[in-house]
Amino acid sequence: MNLNESLLLINEKVRSLKKYHLEPEISSIKLNQNENPFDWPMEIKKEIAQFCVSRPWNRYPNFVPDQLQEKLSQYTKVPKSGILVGNGSNEMLLVLLLSLANTARNVIICQPTFTVYRLLATGLGATERSVGLNADLTFNIPDIVSCSKQYPGSVLILCSPNNPTGSVLSESDVKTILAEHNGFCILDQAYIEFGGYNAIELLDKFPNLIITRTFSKAFGGAGLRLGYMLGNPEIVSQINKIKLPYNVNFFSEHVAQTLLSHTSTVEKQVEFLINQRDDLLSFLNSLPLDNVYPSSANFIMFRCREKQALFDNCKQNGILIRDVSSYPLCENCLRVNVGTEQENSAFKKVLKNFFA
Ligand code: PMP
Repeated sequence: MNLNESLLLINEKVRSLKKYHLEPEISSIKLNQNENPFDWPMEIKKEIAQFCVSRPWNRYPNFVPDQLQEKLSQYTKVPKSGILVGNGSNEMLLVLLLSLANTARNVIICQPTFTVYRLLATGLGATERSVGLNADLTFNIPDIVSCSKQYPGSVLILCSPNNPTGSVLSESDVKTILAEHNGFCILDQAYIEFGGYNAIELLDKFPNLIITRTFSKAFGGAGLRLGYMLGNPEIVSQINKIKLPYNVNFFSEHVAQTLLSHTSTVEKQVEFLINQRDDLLSFLNSLPLDNVYPSSANFIMFRCREKQALFDNCKQNGILIRDVSSYPLCENCLRVNVGTEQENSAFKKVLKNFFA
């Protein structure tokens, strides 16, 4: 077989996908991936390194990361049997869609949102049904409900706070949607520590609700690749069957347990980042931008007709932000995440000079 013949044997749905790719770019100030700007203290890292040195590498990790699930259970108040951990919340989204989506299923996605949902749903051959956000980029609850009614049995993916807009679903929004939705609902809460309604209390009442979360954002563990899902134990046990065995390596498992023993550090950083976000929001609102969207996450999206010049100007000044202008409804939009106080000041200075 030649290369062309081989390429044609790759699933058509996969071939049709647009690559999800982030160019590796070097900037001294990195505000483009919604990471926590604070690394973990050296004493904690050294303690973990010591564990990694003493732990044999030729042995598999635990079949079930029991202690980590126990700690997550204490942290979330969800029973251990309703928790599944994986290689980033991306892996959790993958196993969820592998279990719930197929060529006969509709997947409802509120656009604009995190690109991976569309990628996975399309790659698995499911049909995407998009519901647009409102013009002000808040969630359009009546449209979500009406799409859900139109496609009973569909998988509804909600992201709150939503990436890239920062918009959130309120408690009554989530309850209204769940009361009407006849199908699974995946609620992605990658940024929940920064704001929005934490729907954990609804898990008891709605076995069709599954929440995904991550260590990559507020917990400052993006390099670890660790995420988890929360759901009804019987549902989670079914989804567990398609998850790869040993998907969490012993290093990540151990680090996550350690981080969960330092939640007060995370809480302090979150408080700081929320204050910085609100300060940055007021600053952006004082500039001649076309729109600045309120955010409950650790990032802010704004619209600027001079988007390219502004993006390039930031880059020339060593600051990397994210161009999200190709997302639906996001023409001329840029997204910046909150950094350290110095990083935020540097960003503000560049913008002030740009508009001077
Ligand atoms: N969900 C959302 C909304 C995200 O923005 C991201 C990462 N940018 C993820 C999930 C995936 O995060 P991770 O795999 O690092 O847990």
